[in-house]
Amino acid sequence: MATQPRSTDDILREALEANGQRFTEQRAAVYHFLASTRSHPTADEVYLQVRSAVPVISLATVYKSLETLVGCGLAVKLTYGDGSARYDGRTDPHHHARCLSCSRIVDLPGQVPAEEIEELHEDTGSFQVTGYRLEFTGYCADCAAERRGASEAMAHG
Ligand SMILES: [Zn+2]
Ligand SMILES: [Zn+2]
Repeated sequence: MATQPRSTDDILREALEANGQRFTEQRAAVYHFLASTRSHPTADEVYLQVRSAVPVISLATVYKSLETLVGCGLAVKLTYGDGSARYDGRTDPHHHARCLSCSRIVDLPGQVPAEEIEELHEDTGSFQVTGYRLEFTGYCADCAAERRGASEAMAHG
């Protein structure tokens, strides 16, 4: 029998069960939305979107569902110095760039090679590196265009 491509629900069900968690309609709705977007939404943004599909869901449930997904390895939580957090349904290695003007998060291809991380361990002699957080900063396409427009207006004004 040919293996069928696994549905989002199958992936979710398996990951939840492997972590001793139950599959619920609320968790599925949160996961569906997160898997369908590249916007790296905040919990509030997820809540606003998911509420239209599951009207009874509460913000607290959305929060807990997001944390459960992170715990099961189905989502990544991006935290920031101001205490805010965004969630990413994309769990393959990639970098993030944050717009300095509108705070939008954009995916960038790439990852730090495992050999380089091993070298860091040798270089420091003792620090055991288990992961890394790297953020590029700059301006997204919209904000870059706006800034260009503004500086042109200034030059001509
Ligand atoms: Zn921007
Ligand atoms: Zn991402």
